[in-house]
Amino acid sequence: VIKIGQAEHSKITTCAYCGVGCGFKAEMKGNQVVRMTPWKDGKANEGHACVKGRFAWGYATHPDRITKPMIRSKITDPWREVSWEEAIGHAASEFRRIQAKYGKDSVGGITSSRCTNEETYLVQKLIRAGFGNNNVDTCARVCHSPTGYGLGQTYGTSAGTQTFKSVEHSDVVLVIGANPTDGHPVFASRLKKRLREGARLIVIDPRRIDLVQTPHVKADYHLALRPGTNVAMITALAHVIVTEGLLADEFIAARCEEKSFHDWRDFVSKPENSPEATADITGVPAEDVRAAARLYATGGNAAIYYGLGVTEHSQGSTMVMGIANLAMATGNIGREGVGVNPLRGQNNVQGSCDMGSFPHELPGYRHISDTATRQLFESAWGVTLDPEPGLRIPNMFDAAMAGSFLGLYCEGEDIVQSDPNTQHVTAALSAMECVVVQDIFLNETAKYAHVFLPGASFLEKDGTFTNAERRISRVRQVMKPLAGYADWEVTQLLANALGLAMDYKHPSEIMDEIARLTPSFAGVNYQKIDRMGSVQWPCNDAAPEGTPTMHLDAFVRGKGKFFVTQYVATDEKVNRRFPLILTTGRILSQYNVGAQTRRTANSMWHPEDVLEIHPHDAEERGINDGDWVGVQSRAGETVLHAKVSERMQPGVVYTTFHFPESGANVITTDNSDWATNCPEYKVTAVQVLKVTQP
Ligand code: SF4
Repeated sequence: VIKIGQAEHSKITTCAYCGVGCGFKAEMKGNQVVRMTPWKDGKANEGHACVKGRFAWGYATHPDRITKPMIRSKITDPWREVSWEEAIGHAASEFRRIQAKYGKDSVGGITSSRCTNEETYLVQKLIRAGFGNNNVDTCARVCHSPTGYGLGQTYGTSAGTQTFKSVEHSDVVLVIGANPTDGHPVFASRLKKRLREGARLIVIDPRRIDLVQTPHVKADYHLALRPGTNVAMITALAHVIVTEGLLADEFIAARCEEKSFHDWRDFVSKPENSPEATADITGVPAEDVRAAARLYATGGNAAIYYGLGVTEHSQGSTMVMGIANLAMATGNIGREGVGVNPLRGQNNVQGSCDMGSFPHELPGYRHISDTATRQLFESAWGVTLDPEPGLRIPNMFDAAMAGSFLGLYCEGEDIVQSDPNTQHVTAALSAMECVVVQDIFLNETAKYAHVFLPGASFLEKDGTFTNAERRISRVRQVMKPLAGYADWEVTQLLANALGLAMDYKHPSEIMDEIARLTPSFAGVNYQKIDRMGSVQWPCNDAAPEGTPTMHLDAFVRGKGKFFVTQYVATDEKVNRRFPLILTTGRILSQYNVGAQTRRTANSMWHPEDVLEIHPHDAEERGINDGDWVGVQSRAGETVLHAKVSERMQPGVVYTTFHFPESGANVITTDNSDWATNCPEYKVTAVQVLKVTQP
């Protein structure tokens, strides 16, 4: 229901969907939002917004909201509403019972990129200081963890290098494995404007995404590679740049590690890495790869924007390093209009990573094994920290199946719907003795929970989100929490019940603590954000007003480091039984697992997930547009409506994962990135057959 009425007052806040992080004016009548309008002074969006953000407030007051804490002994029992005191006390005593019986490492927690920086910081603090281990992970595990690893290795920090506005200075834009029109619409509008002004465009994507050709925009080159062959492609592009003498020699000599460059140059120069030699792997004509490489290297300011089509592969981290190599090799780093820019899926993926919610890193990307860093936090928190990295999300599931991980605190994350191989996830959750879910809805994961703690939507709390351009923006409370507490307060209650003293009166105090302990946030505080509208980290004595463009004169690690990117084919092979490759993505009007957008006006435009299939593959199977089709993989099977589409290449099918009924992740597998365990969502061998009824 879209409510339009006369607003009485308003507050500026930040969209809680994608990594663009648009500023919005929430217009209120009493405690009710009547309208959300894009904030004209918001630096990420400059008065623009997409169809998701405009209607985002609809889910906040949806009747499905759960506003009472609930507990049950077994997941087959009905829920019982209880007081906050009883629910928190029960969760804490269960966690302590499990630790006493199975050891301190038998429990852990998962944070969400939907939550604020302050909330995420508190969850990792609760796990590290309250549970006494490092079993904390974030949903970035399943999206941009390879960005963290790859950019950390090459440049020294896990972050996009530019502002979104920087694209206005780009002459060439290379979009890899991203579909901004659907995933990051407000940035897509900026990009299209620049393209209409004459910038050139290269798209690397298996699917003919909107950017490839619209009435106003046409890519110069669409390298429609086979899913899973990114690394062969990026190495072939590098081969052309090196062997045709297109390197930025001065930049490389001044800014990069010499030996790493020589090793990389010698590797990519090999004949087996040429576009001709790799054409059989990628499926892309060599002349197109050569032309695209020349354009990227010589076309002026060249910027790379990439998405989950880069990271969600068994070689996701290798590909991120390959992208970083390409930008260094051509000198496209450290000024406006260039750079390497991961398009973060969720509103606060950047922030949740910054806040130390990985099992090996404290806030600010500092390894838990580093004694000086650990001592800093030990002294601030008054505890002794475990120097050993904890369990990643998939390791938690494996440990649960092995009987050594029995208790989980899951805040704002629907792992049953979003993580791959659903059967494995649900089996692991079923094997646990205490699952605590904190969320605004009874999501799919809550079906396996013993304690449900009602969360608060972004409209019900204060805090900050950090978008894909490292921009820290305020989230402002415009209505009281429906369940009585914001999520940071719930975590604080749980911490206190576990015996860990926390007494924050407002999220600004949490940010002040983050700033005291994290050099890249040292100059961040609410007063500054309120004064400037937003601020980009690093923000400290060296950059008191923040840092729009990174790596200006030197990389964060000093000299940039090249890495050899050897292509290794995924284990997920097609064969006669599973002859097609399924790849997954998103659609404009829905967001992520759809828990929020399905409860807004957005469902008018996209009421179900469908399977896109090329006309040749459809015809071969007797499939017509709108038919029901069964999709089967080695992991499982599901049923979807077919959409016959020439956006697909033959042999590749595509779906989204916004609806639990479609079960997209029932069919994705356990394959994951070698460095980070980010799941290989983008490559699943499947068979597709027409069926009469679901
Ligand atoms: Fe902006 Fe993304 Fe929200 Fe759309 S979903 S309004 S692009 S932040």
